[in-house]
Amino acid sequence: MSYLNDVLENIKAEKDGKFYEAVSEFFDSLKEYIDENEEFLKKNAILEKLTTPDRIIQFKVVWNDDNGNERVNNGYRVQFNNSLGPYKGGLRFAENVNVDTFKFLGFEQIFKNALTGQPIGGAKGGSDFTSKGKSENEIKRFCQSFMSELFKYIGPYQDVPAGDIGVSSREIGYLFGQYKKLTNQFNGTLTGKNPLYGGLNGRSEATGYGLLYITKYLLENRGLSLEGKTVVVSGAGNVASFAIKKATELGAKVLTFSNSKGYVLDEEGIDVDLFFEVSKNSNNIVKDYAEKRSSAKYFESEKPWKVKADIVLPCATENEINREDAKTIVSNGTICIAEGANMPTDNEAKEVIFNKKDLLYIPAKAANCGGVSSSLFEMSQDSGYVYWSSSMSDKQLDRTMKNLADDMEKVVKETGKDYQYAANYLSFKKVVKAIVEQGL
Ligand code: NDP
Repeated sequence: MSYLNDVLENIKAEKDGKFYEAVSEFFDSLKEYIDENEEFLKKNAILEKLTTPDRIIQFKVVWNDDNGNERVNNGYRVQFNNSLGPYKGGLRFAENVNVDTFKFLGFEQIFKNALTGQPIGGAKGGSDFTSKGKSENEIKRFCQSFMSELFKYIGPYQDVPAGDIGVSSREIGYLFGQYKKLTNQFNGTLTGKNPLYGGLNGRSEATGYGLLYITKYLLENRGLSLEGKTVVVSGAGNVASFAIKKATELGAKVLTFSNSKGYVLDEEGIDVDLFFEVSKNSNNIVKDYAEKRSSAKYFESEKPWKVKADIVLPCATENEINREDAKTIVSNGTICIAEGANMPTDNEAKEVIFNKKDLLYIPAKAANCGGVSSSLFEMSQDSGYVYWSSSMSDKQLDRTMKNLADDMEKVVKETGKDYQYAANYLSFKKVVKAIVEQGL
């Protein structure tokens, strides 16, 4: 058995879940490179080091609901690897999370962060608490209690959390406020803050905008443009909102968006102003948008993948595209899939996608790294007490995505492999070099 197979077997025995799926996808794509360098990698136990988090912190979060009852949730922070810089990665508040979720997301984050070219390590965390259906006071009390434990393990040079699913600038505000109360320090420990108190202008937009910038550059390399293309978007949260906005600004027509309850199809193209207007006060933006727009139709409990479009941007959650969905997308003649969400395409769906050689597939690590890259701009801004304008952060984001597109294109041309390989190869090499040189 090869070194790679040994390591994968060990993880499989430990737990068969999303973490295993992410690790096997990553290493499988690098199999040839790993086999060629087996002696060096094995001697330095690189694969074991990369699949074993530096530490996993799990804690109890006790908070009071509005009826005076005490409630208990689990809090997590997986500090996976800091060979390139302080741990960095979002906090997710969602009912269906566990240690496996955060190990999977933390593992992906190491390599995504490496692709930005900035000094940031990988981490991820959160809780099985959800803000959905909670009052403002309940959310505040939960965030304060969560931070009362987490603050012991984070800091501007140690670990810098941000938002993710279920954690927007509202939750970040409460978390940051509690961090300050406990430490008596105003520093850049959390990113995704309101620009009023240290947040970056353009951070909310960055993941969605970055997704469109890298898509634009990689399409241009094929002599194509976003102008006039039709786009299917899933999700209606942070990433999806700004992907819709930027795609529209760049001349594309966005046909759909979705949430956990269904999707909306708007044949005339999503009206961006109406989308943001409705999103301010809606518990189900998909349904409410469709009610306000005559050209839109609401499809309850359905995913948007059967809608025919040139470009598909999954921006909701993991494993939202399965094998059957991928077959539909391919048979619709789609020319590009760019992943705004983390691991939205499961491994079986990827097999279908990779069989269609001329389909441009941009993997999440590269496609959505604009968000974390901008978080580092926020950290720089906070540590230097300087101010970045929206245009400054947008220009820098655009440059980051262009550099990454160029680097990936070079690998694709040199090896004849795909962009998933390029992203994995570029990030793996950086992290391995940092681990070996620092004796970690
Ligand atoms: P949000 O919480 O803002 O939005 C998530 C969206 O996805 C909501 O519309 C939600 O609908 C929908 N959704 C969640 N679960 C499901 C499901 N099972 N089926 C269908 N729709 C679902 O999260 P973000 O936009 O921040 O994150 C989206 C994805 O992008 C995640 O994978 C995240 O890890 C990734 N990402 C985010 C970054 C960021 O900067 N925010 C950076 C890099 C990656 P509903 O409201 O009904 O639950």
